[in-house]
Amino acid sequence: PARGKTVRDYIRTIVDFPHEGILFRDVTTLFADPRGFRMAIDQLLHPYAGTRIDKVVGLEARGFILGGAVAHQLSCGFVPIRKKGKLPGQTISQAYTLEYGEAVVEVHDDAIQPGEKVLLVDDLLATGGTAEAGIKLIERLGGEIVGCAFVVDLPDLGGRKKLEAMGMEVHALCA
Ligand code: 5GP
Repeated sequence: PARGKTVRDYIRTIVDFPHEGILFRDVTTLFADPRGFRMAIDQLLHPYAGTRIDKVVGLEARGFILGGAVAHQLSCGFVPIRKKGKLPGQTISQAYTLEYGEAVVEVHDDAIQPGEKVLLVDDLLATGGTAEAGIKLIERLGGEIVGCAFVVDLPDLGGRKKLEAMGMEVHALCA
């Protein structure tokens, strides 16, 4: 029975993943539950009722699961931002810093048209580095970001502040 359950109740914490000392928020238990998943999609959309959105952009890989469902609900297009080397067509790339080293994400250069309204979706906001790289790619293509939607925000890691300093509107369902 789902009575009284919130999105947060469906998320499991795994200790020491991917390495020692990390408390990993596992959203697969949220995705696997029919009421939990539906609740998460509904709540991700809620702030944007009545807002024009042309494209939902999802960040690899859990942002694809959420973003695909959100785009279907909005009857708009879905655009994946992927790790380097995965997209088959012509891409633009953006590097960003990780805890150890650097990563690169890419988007197809014809996936967003200048002036299109974009909603960025991912499962979790931590330092904000991944989302920042996504925002830069969208803005380089001329997309106008109406919001950044996450299931989880870990506010101590500073991601929300970073994105808000870039002028972004950030929504998260739980901390
Ligand atoms: P950031 O770039 O904000 O530091 O990290 C966020 C990215 O790493 C997101 O794409 C997210 O999927 C992933 N991530 C980092 N920590 C976690 C976690 O504890 N749980 C989940 N599900 N994803 C995480």
